[in-house]
Amino acid sequence: MREIKNAIGGQLVGSASGRSQPVFNPATGEQVATVPLSSAEEVSSAIAAAKAASESWGRMPPLKRARYMFKFKEICEARADDIARAISAEHGKTHADALGEVQRGLEVIEFACGIPHLLKGEFSRNVGPEIDSYSDRQPLGVVAGITPFNFPAMVPMWMYPVAIACGNTFVLKPSERDPGAVMLAYELFEEAGFPKGVLNVVHGDKVAVDTILKHPDVKAISFVGSTPIAEYVYATGTAHGKRVQALGGAKNHMIIMPDADIDKAVDALMGAGYGSAGERCMAVSVAVPIGEATANKLVEALRPKVEALKIGPATDSQAEMGPLVTRQHQQKVLGYIDQGVKEGAELVVDGRGFKLQGYENGYFVGGTLFDRVTPEMTIYKEEIFGPVLSVLRSPNYDHAVDLINRHEYGNGTAIFTRDGDAARNFADRIEVGMVGINVPIPVPVAYHSFGGWKRSLFGDHSIYGPEGIRFYTRLKTVTQRWPEGIKSGAVFTFPTM
Ligand code: NAD
Repeated sequence: MREIKNAIGGQLVGSASGRSQPVFNPATGEQVATVPLSSAEEVSSAIAAAKAASESWGRMPPLKRARYMFKFKEICEARADDIARAISAEHGKTHADALGEVQRGLEVIEFACGIPHLLKGEFSRNVGPEIDSYSDRQPLGVVAGITPFNFPAMVPMWMYPVAIACGNTFVLKPSERDPGAVMLAYELFEEAGFPKGVLNVVHGDKVAVDTILKHPDVKAISFVGSTPIAEYVYATGTAHGKRVQALGGAKNHMIIMPDADIDKAVDALMGAGYGSAGERCMAVSVAVPIGEATANKLVEALRPKVEALKIGPATDSQAEMGPLVTRQHQQKVLGYIDQGVKEGAELVVDGRGFKLQGYENGYFVGGTLFDRVTPEMTIYKEEIFGPVLSVLRSPNYDHAVDLINRHEYGNGTAIFTRDGDAARNFADRIEVGMVGINVPIPVPVAYHSFGGWKRSLFGDHSIYGPEGIRFYTRLKTVTQRWPEGIKSGAVFTFPTM
């Protein structure tokens, strides 16, 4: 049995906390590893290691830091297949999907390679007689990341490459449900030759998270996970004087206008609704067709495709989606389907009875489609995070916009239409952070930034891209005058020109 270790100050160390939990292969239900639930002392020692490495790393010329990052990028590229396999082994997503995840993480590393340019400041000559002023952005010191199970390699890569390129050192607390991919990426990071203690990884649960949130040496925290925990992390971290960005859950709607190409909209919904078994914060979980005729066409076109979904383990190259991450999560998703039926939604395709020969103990749920869902239903209000798509029929465009704007989440959304006016109006009015126009999963590229609105993000900064640079640095402005320019005599009034 693989025993997952912590990585502290460049050493892999076993935990002495006496607490641990099993990690499973979701396709078979077999235990594949044990992950430690670290003690507060163990987390503190990772923070101390990061602190010890912080000063010299922060002072290193950005170009030299970038060279380490280039090396890391090369190694990750060469091992992309292995990272993808490590993801699938504990998460369950298909190999092709896992490779896509690795690629999007790699793109953030590529972005971080441009750090000398990204940290360039601003300079103003002659802000006064012989006085010049310049501003630049400096690292914060030790920063931390707490990440979810659903993108075990990519979401950590949204954080540590940017933070570390900026000159910070990092403590990562990955998801305890699928920690294997992070540990492989950590080995590759060490192979790139970064100084010891620049990246540290501690595994654990609330005990580890609370230690990070309250530790005086941690200056900033990036969190990605569910909304209740994001809110808790934001409130507790900021109460302890830290900068916090906490990204939470989602309920992403896709409007299908009457003029949309229905076949393309259906393909988009299949990929965005059922890819990764719906375990994506940018998954489309609500389709909003405008008008009865559009709704009827959409549901009729979706039904056979949902029924024909190819579901299997990641080792099956034909599989379009895999199992859910844990037995507990599978039961939760099945409970939501029961609830939808109880509350009166029309179950068009029922995924509850799905069984796969040879994988009877896997955490599979079949593709599920609900029609005639209403805003009062639990399956509409809450994030299900499974292969369950709800169709909510809307009488007109304004009603649909209003519906989306009233939802507590505002992560992603999309509209499918051929009408430029409607698309522009949608982009303008919709209260959601990431908007797709004929694009179902509008995840911004690495040189833009990722972030939702409303209860999908707590804090002032989105993640990675230019916002990531701002989050992981603080602005310093220097005003300078050399002796020739200094007049004799003290000045007691406020400086003006
Ligand atoms: P989660 O909130 O259960 O866990 C996230 C992290 O918080 C983990 O590291 C976990 O150990 C820690 N944690 C869990 N309970 C805690 C507690 N009581 N106190 C302190 N820390 C705790 O989320 P998850 O199930 O791993 O991930 C799925 C969720 O993440 C979904 O809601 C999804 O929408 C969201 N997500 C959001 C984004 C985004 O960018 N907005 C991206 C990916 C996932």
